[in-house]
Amino acid sequence: MATADPTALDRWLDGHQRELLRELTSWLRIPSVSADPAHADDVRRSAEFLAAAARAAGFPRAEVWETGGHPAVFAERLEDPALSTVLVYAHHDVQPADPLEEWTTPPFDPVVADGELRARGAADDKQNALMHLEAVRAHLAVEGRLPLNLKLLVEGEEESGSPHFDTLLRDHRSELAADVAVISDTGMLGPEAPALTIGLRGMVYWEVRVAGPVRDLHSGLYGGAVANPVVGLAELLAGLHDADRRVAVPGFYDRVREPGPAERRALAAVPFDTEAFLSDAGVPAPAGEAGWTTYERRTVRPTLDICGIWGGYTGAGAKTIIPARCGAKLSARLVPDQDPGAIAELVRRHLLDRAPVGLTTEVDVLSTGRWVSAATDHPAVQAASRAVAQVWGRPPSLVREGGSIPPVASIADQLQVACVLFGVGLPDDRFHAPNERLRLEQLHRGVRATVRLWNELGAIPPGALRPTRAAEAVAGP
Ligand SMILES: [Zn+2]
Repeated sequence: MATADPTALDRWLDGHQRELLRELTSWLRIPSVSADPAHADDVRRSAEFLAAAARAAGFPRAEVWETGGHPAVFAERLEDPALSTVLVYAHHDVQPADPLEEWTTPPFDPVVADGELRARGAADDKQNALMHLEAVRAHLAVEGRLPLNLKLLVEGEEESGSPHFDTLLRDHRSELAADVAVISDTGMLGPEAPALTIGLRGMVYWEVRVAGPVRDLHSGLYGGAVANPVVGLAELLAGLHDADRRVAVPGFYDRVREPGPAERRALAAVPFDTEAFLSDAGVPAPAGEAGWTTYERRTVRPTLDICGIWGGYTGAGAKTIIPARCGAKLSARLVPDQDPGAIAELVRRHLLDRAPVGLTTEVDVLSTGRWVSAATDHPAVQAASRAVAQVWGRPPSLVREGGSIPPVASIADQLQVACVLFGVGLPDDRFHAPNERLRLEQLHRGVRATVRLWNELGAIPPGALRPTRAAEAVAGP
């Protein structure tokens, strides 16, 4: 079929920016904080707002889906069974706004100034969700139809760990069936540094507890004569890395797919600003596994970190004790082809095998998540690259992200589709932090790229989008 004329679509979009902004602002006034039970009604209102907006945008079917937790939104517009079907994923819940005193404007009272819109949820993830609705409106207004079949799944629990998402996918598997998924919960490298994410790291989370005496003991009467849990834990944790900052758990790297010279050259070509990254973090110098760049350390290398540690006396002044117990939280970020379940058990066994003598050590695995990796030559990745290039005037960098988005691995795994991660957030949009914002120019370019993405994907026959190689069935083990 003939695809819609992008310049006519752009004209329509330019004429409707004010309406888009008004809609986004209304939605951002709803504090859809999924982590806080006090906001449960707000998350529901946010879902209802979006379902109504999707219906008004031209989805004949748009409904709120119950999940056992916060509701999701599903919308569908089926044009022609001969066309490809794309499933779009985004989320409508937001992070808590705390600490409130650090916001220069109220988090749920959106302010537009200096080319940006400031509010909690502006960048993560409401702009990405509405970008898709706006692209639907443009296609329908100009052409009267979409160039493909479109399904929208917008989750309400992403910011609190997606506890019901796997069940939701299982319960609605046939309704969610698609040839490819477009995930819109990621960003780019900069306003003039377009990017598509083709990889996410997996993760494992552990809790370690070390117990010693039945109660805190006097450090004068008992010190030196009984094992101290905090000392034992500190030694155990200190042994997790070697002098090169490599993880010292035997077998940890066994299945890591080492990037070859060509991939390392491609990684080096990504316009990642290491200085800005370090200064944003407020650290004076880079640190990490020897032999790798900062960008490689946070994308293609696995990690093992201590996220928290507690034990003993931490109040004012001195209290002379041998603490009874202590503990720590650990997380790992995993890369292809590491198996999260195997790594979880490997590290658990390692900690128990080296447990300090005279103390009781317990290790629990709290969660695991798979990594995601898309083939750079997948037709949907190529289509998204062309769509972005047409708007930004240069092809996007294909980047791997250090973080994990568990719903993406679930979608890839359960629906057996390749996932293209297509979002317009920027590194300094302050995701999850006070004074979150989106840049209006980025939003408007994102909508333009989305209308083109649908032209591009709609021109590809459904069979060509489905995963054909193991490497494209993109979730990790
Ligand atoms: Zn998000």
